[in-house]
Amino acid sequence: MYDCVIIGGGPGGVTAAIYAIRSGMKTVVVEKIGVGGQIALSDIIENYPGFPSISGLELMSHFENHAKGIGVEFVSADITGIEVDGDKRILKTAGENIETKTVVICSGAEAKKLGFAGEEEFIGRGVSTCATCDGPFYRNKAVAVIGGGDTAVKESIYLSKIASKVYHVHRRDRFRAEKVLQDRIVTKDNIEFVWKHTTEEALGDVSGVTGLRVKSVDTGETRDLDVDGVFVFVGITPNTAFVDCDKDEQGFIVVNENMETSIPGVYAAGDCRVTPLRQVVTAVGDAAIAAFKAEEYVSELEGRAYDKVGAQGVTLK
Ligand code: NAP
Repeated sequence: MYDCVIIGGGPGGVTAAIYAIRSGMKTVVVEKIGVGGQIALSDIIENYPGFPSISGLELMSHFENHAKGIGVEFVSADITGIEVDGDKRILKTAGENIETKTVVICSGAEAKKLGFAGEEEFIGRGVSTCATCDGPFYRNKAVAVIGGGDTAVKESIYLSKIASKVYHVHRRDRFRAEKVLQDRIVTKDNIEFVWKHTTEEALGDVSGVTGLRVKSVDTGETRDLDVDGVFVFVGITPNTAFVDCDKDEQGFIVVNENMETSIPGVYAAGDCRVTPLRQVVTAVGDAAIAAFKAEEYVSELEGRAYDKVGAQGVTLK
């Protein structure tokens, strides 16, 4: 039985593992695909202290090397449920279940869908939620980007270096992205802002997307943008369906300041939890607290077991 199982191998998960193993807990990180998480898809990170400019992939390779260098074990599995059996937390998988005393959930979040006509139909054939994965297919072609948060603005800037033209569609007339990104995007000559427009439909044929129909919020008039690709960045949805604990209406896990969920011995950190800020730096801070509190929990359990043995008159070591 493990002392601590960490679900997710993004920045939060790897940090929790580093803290957990250093505190002497028998620890494993369970990850669906590979170490890195969503941030590994980010072309550039400029707000993680110590690294003025680094790709997500490179930053995560530093995290991974650090963890593996001190003996953190990573296994590949898809957790489908968490059951409580006394002091045991049983993680359900398609294969063997995993037993542990504590769990730190760092399962992150994934891109939300917008729900316009053609979005599902053209996923992988012109509609995408990952600029670093699919951007290179649109070299010298026109693309549309939808959304006004950090992700949309960052990815629009990235795509402007590959595509001949980027139509940046947003439902309001201002971005919510951080100021430094707003200042940067307006310097890009090949980005045309399509303010106060909603998305109606991805147009296309058997070859894939050939256009995007957008609609003015003010006049209701529609306009067809001549694009080959549509990138949707309208927020995130948490990967938390496998755990039955207190969550908000969108599924983000509710924790207290100790990162404790409503299930004793189960903690949550990073993007999957209710939090005012989702950054690498906040995920790693959350994760350090979660692992620290998990270790305290395990120590208390062990203390309890020790007391029980003592009470039964067994010689104590
Ligand atoms: P976000 O901040 O939630 O922004 C979502 C954007 O999509 C908003 O501009 C929103 O418009 C728009 N939107 C939502 N629903 C829509 C709809 N139905 N129709 C049209 N537009 C819609 O999401 P995010 O950009 O993916 O960021 C998620 C989290 O990760 C945030 O906490 C963000 O700060 C963080 N992040 C940070 C960085 C970084 O480098 N610092 C990079 C990426 C992400 P409104 O503005 O009108 O609401």
